[in-house]
Amino acid sequence: DQNKFQAIISHCKEYGFVFQSSEIYDGLSAVYDYGQNGAQLKKNIRDYWWKSMTQMHDNIVGIDAAIFMHPTTWKASGHVDGFSDPMIDNKDSKKRYRVDHLIEAHAETLDAAAGEELIAKMNALLAADDLAGLKALIEAYKIKCAVSGTVNWTDVRQFNLMFSTQLGSVTDEASEIYLRPETAQGIFVNFLNVQKTGRMKIPFGIAQIGKAFRNEIVARQFIFRMREFEQMEMQFFVRPGTQKEWFQYWKEERMKWHLSLGADPAKYKFHEHEKLAFYADAAEDIEFEFPIGFKEVEGIHSRTDHDLGRHQEFSKKKMQYFDTEINQNYIPYVIETSIGLDRMFLLTVCNAYEEEDLTKDGKEDSRVVMRFPAKLAPTKLAIFPLTKKDGLPEIAKELMDICKPHFHTFYEEKDAIGKRYRRQDAIGTPFCVTIDHQTKEDNTVTIRYRDSMEQERIPLDKVKELVLNKINE
Ligand code: ATP
Repeated sequence: DQNKFQAIISHCKEYGFVFQSSEIYDGLSAVYDYGQNGAQLKKNIRDYWWKSMTQMHDNIVGIDAAIFMHPTTWKASGHVDGFSDPMIDNKDSKKRYRVDHLIEAHAETLDAAAGEELIAKMNALLAADDLAGLKALIEAYKIKCAVSGTVNWTDVRQFNLMFSTQLGSVTDEASEIYLRPETAQGIFVNFLNVQKTGRMKIPFGIAQIGKAFRNEIVARQFIFRMREFEQMEMQFFVRPGTQKEWFQYWKEERMKWHLSLGADPAKYKFHEHEKLAFYADAAEDIEFEFPIGFKEVEGIHSRTDHDLGRHQEFSKKKMQYFDTEINQNYIPYVIETSIGLDRMFLLTVCNAYEEEDLTKDGKEDSRVVMRFPAKLAPTKLAIFPLTKKDGLPEIAKELMDICKPHFHTFYEEKDAIGKRYRRQDAIGTPFCVTIDHQTKEDNTVTIRYRDSMEQERIPLDKVKELVLNKINE
């Protein structure tokens, strides 16, 4: 449903969640900024992941490695040679396309059987790295350029997705370095540091959250595919031979994490990779049903000893672990969980967004409400004095002072109460509290719940506790 997706994108902009980067200069393609509500929401998702990985698992620790890494890292990881997508340019429109996206879009216009046949042919050619074959396939199916409708294609080429830059003196040719395209390598190169200094015993994990950069060729669909984005990755090091069990464990554990955020389980599914990397022995994605269809949010990969083995080979440092239980030295196997923070943000926003019809007794009414889980909501509590006088703002501000060390609180005294409620619905604030004249008499306030829109009177001194309980649920 493209319309719903467009409505969500507009809402994100209108309510300070996501802006186009450098918008006053017409923006930068596939780069976005998070506004006042978006930054807070993103932080809450990040903190929730971090806590569930590090604090809730005593055998997982977190690190924060640099974005810049020694260039040999990317030779060892295979990114210099292999991190590329086949692309093709249209000679007339000068538009560049990722070959797989171009062919997939065409397959969608065919009937199911013909579409499947085309995808199967494409996958075989992609697996064989047959660039000429891909070009021939595009021509055989007379695949047109979406913009100009022409079929005038260049040859298919490999396009490396890493951004490169120069470290220090530009004249030194050995100084070419890359912006990391994934955070995982910062974990692998620190494997020994963490294992030794933390006296970690296998099985154990290292988690990291940080920016990654990819020069994506087709970067559309809002923050789904960005050129600068954030990843939350965890590498779990295990004894060789136990990787199948751990893969299963992490698949289930990660799905539980997603479901703990309250989405309908029917909106999630696992998707097994059709073609595995040569070193991998299992790989599955967690997909979520966005308004634009089921799409990947997270990957769970069983990567064997490939990464540590390659770093051992390139660095000549032993990436080994001495397992005292079995008296053996080995390069640990790795199960990886890798989720995009921005994509999780998009999931959270899509899942929360609702245009609710409130028409009653012939009186038309509606609202947009963001039904964020309370623990992720950017603002937890809004506090409103009913009027600007009679000492009500003072009571409201006192409550604000009590609450704000514990969670994000918002204060507002302008406009009718109903209007103020609706503005909080639109940014997903789960609780609003109104201070009125009765408060002065009996120390009670009206609390209004975002989801049900129900209101009740509760003691003023119970507000903080009530909100804290809900956000820690
Ligand atoms: P895709 O097939 O969509 O390009 P991928 O399989 O290359 O993704 P991974 O390299 O496994 O993705 O990255 C792990 C996670 O990082 C993805 O599941 C996704 O959530 C996120 N991610 C990857 N690329 C981007 C991007 N360009 N923008 C935003 N998030 C991304």
